[in-house]
Amino acid sequence: MRGGLGGPRLLLRRLREVMAEPVSAQARLDRIVIHIAANMVAEVCSVYVQRSDGKLELYATEGLNREAVHLTTMTTGEGLVGLIAEKAEPLALADAQAHPAFSYRPETGEEVYQSFLGVPILRGGNTLGVLVVQNRARRTYSEEEVEALQTTAMLLAEMIASGELQSLAAPGQSLSLQKPMSLTGSPLSDGVGLGHVVLHEPRIVVKQLVAESFDAENARLDAAILAMREQIEVLIARGDRYGAGEHRDVLETVRMFANDRGWMRRLREALDSGLTAEAAVERVQNDARAKLQRQTDPYLRERLHDLDDLANRLLQQLTGVTPPHGGALPDNAILVARNMGPASLLDYERANLRGLVLEDGGPTSHVAIIARALGIPAVGEVPNITDLVETGDAIIVDGGSGEVQLRPSPDVETAYGEKARLRARRREQYHKLRDVPAVTKDGVEIGLHMNAGLLIDCQHADEVGAQSIGLFRTELQFMVAPSFPRQSQQYALYRKVLDSVGDLPVTFRTLDIGSDKVLPYMAKVEEENPALGWRAIRIGLDRPGLLRMQIRAMLRAAEGRTLRIMFPMVAKTSEFVAARDICVREMEFLRRHDYKTPRNLQLGVMVEVPSLLWQLDEICELADFLSVGSNDLTQYLFAADRDNKRVSGRFDDLSAPNLRALKSIVDVAARYDKPVTLCGEMGGKPLEALALAAIGFRGFSMTPSSIGPVKAAIRAVDLGALTALLMPMIERLDHSFSIRRELQAFAEAHCVPL
Ligand code: PEP
Ligand code: MG
Repeated sequence: MRGGLGGPRLLLRRLREVMAEPVSAQARLDRIVIHIAANMVAEVCSVYVQRSDGKLELYATEGLNREAVHLTTMTTGEGLVGLIAEKAEPLALADAQAHPAFSYRPETGEEVYQSFLGVPILRGGNTLGVLVVQNRARRTYSEEEVEALQTTAMLLAEMIASGELQSLAAPGQSLSLQKPMSLTGSPLSDGVGLGHVVLHEPRIVVKQLVAESFDAENARLDAAILAMREQIEVLIARGDRYGAGEHRDVLETVRMFANDRGWMRRLREALDSGLTAEAAVERVQNDARAKLQRQTDPYLRERLHDLDDLANRLLQQLTGVTPPHGGALPDNAILVARNMGPASLLDYERANLRGLVLEDGGPTSHVAIIARALGIPAVGEVPNITDLVETGDAIIVDGGSGEVQLRPSPDVETAYGEKARLRARRREQYHKLRDVPAVTKDGVEIGLHMNAGLLIDCQHADEVGAQSIGLFRTELQFMVAPSFPRQSQQYALYRKVLDSVGDLPVTFRTLDIGSDKVLPYMAKVEEENPALGWRAIRIGLDRPGLLRMQIRAMLRAAEGRTLRIMFPMVAKTSEFVAARDICVREMEFLRRHDYKTPRNLQLGVMVEVPSLLWQLDEICELADFLSVGSNDLTQYLFAADRDNKRVSGRFDDLSAPNLRALKSIVDVAARYDKPVTLCGEMGGKPLEALALAAIGFRGFSMTPSSIGPVKAAIRAVDLGALTALLMPMIERLDHSFSIRRELQAFAEAHCVPL
């Protein structure tokens, strides 16, 4: 077979020469189609290029009527050409006119040609156009011919991607590669960012497509595959010390693909058609992307990531290029990535970073938490984004709505620019509220505290006028660290946190890991149901060494000051008692060893497991304070995974059952005169915060940026009037109305800003 294909290789060399000729784009395309037709012994060769309006326009032809060039167009899905573009698959027909999709275009004069072979022009799995050859006589195109035409299409893809053909587009038209796109994902971090795409993992650009020698390329490919397999084995053997994104199951899937015969065969076939080893990898990956991107099955789509990973590793072996991560960024950079670990985001220089778009990351992913802490607008779960962008493309991220505007039109850009300015103005207004108390019109004061998890968060306390750090999520230090933080590192962080906020109290929460919060360096425990599994205080009590080490670090860090510690996921009173005993013993230990201890130690319980609702009396007797973790409490009350988009929106925080449960907590706490705050997302939403205040809450801890809006709402409300409206609704036995809607109407009627 190889001997008989001198033709395709010869063609590739010819085309490479044509690519280098100093002629106009149209003349180059015209020559290309002549060469292809001659080499494939076809009477017709045509190139259709996809425009930004989705239409496929005839850009060049040998054999069809030349007048039809730039006049004939097809929509995607229309005719054979449209079908190829839609399916992104080759189509070979001995009798084209008998195909149900055949669409006759009189201006082209194609009625005399019987056989038809068309292939998509692909880049990153996306269709940029269609390349067609036709023959007058009926004939069956061989697999080698299909392969050869696909390889040729790669060169055309490069030509289109280079922007050279843009000059041939009619005024007002652009090519699909430049088309504006409006995409929607999940809001991760609020804010609007305008800028240009920087790929977190820049594509390795294959410069040399055409091989000089098959044997040399074959040997290069063999060596690279061998080296890559060895690299994967080493990573797997290294056991628990993977780098970011190199979890064992991913590596094992990649290893499986690396030994897959079908994949190897396709690589050899691509080599055989005259490509260099790296171009062959790109070619095979392009086809795989085109197929898998069109799959609706999430499992199959997930395999695309594994194949991408494999192709990237192989390309790195072949080119010796390892993409740089982190560091300096150009002005107004918007990072685009498939996924990213929290530490990687922190590696980038902050000053020029305007936004983040991810293909995978959901709202509770660690990188999302970091983006929020840094105040970087971010959107996650944007399907396919890394394939749709090119480095330098204009892009807008709206982290509030989850919208991403790619290559926006000037109108869209102006609208978002305006939105960003409006936000800045509103922030200024909230800033003016910084020093005024959060008191309702009828004189009820509400404490507004902030949630934090990193040292950088703490600077916001002063900016927004938070009364304390009501929740410090200590697990973030563990999540961004490359290995388990030592006691001295934990101590250093807690001390800096306390120092950075001066006199403000800080409530540290002990390590809340497990479930979705996985530490990459800790052996993963396989659980059927991780959210109901071994997590938070459960790990702390089963591995008391860990908890003790953390508590000791906190006690030492708070020497001479007040220290507040609370425990997550307590499900029964005895767990709190056991945790409290550890604290007491650690205090004694430190005193015995002449360490300075906190002046005052307050121990609290997070109420986030429903079983505690029936142990509130015992808890209130024992604890110094309560903090309601409404994110978890709601997910367990409604049995709806907070990270699962399918179910997380089915239940309203402002529905009667939720409000009744929350009210029972404040009621009991009031009986025991125990302070209670709420530190879940609910308290950071103005309408929800008002409802919570109406049922008795007097303190909320929230993301710093929510303090302004919540304070503005509190200051505008008459809480007595709102309570009078809400209480009977909570008790009502019919469910034919929406508390949310009633509250919204109240807010509107009373000019309460939401
Ligand atoms: C909560 O569950 O409401 C909470 C504040 O804790 P986290 O979101 O960290 O689980
Ligand atoms: Mg929680």
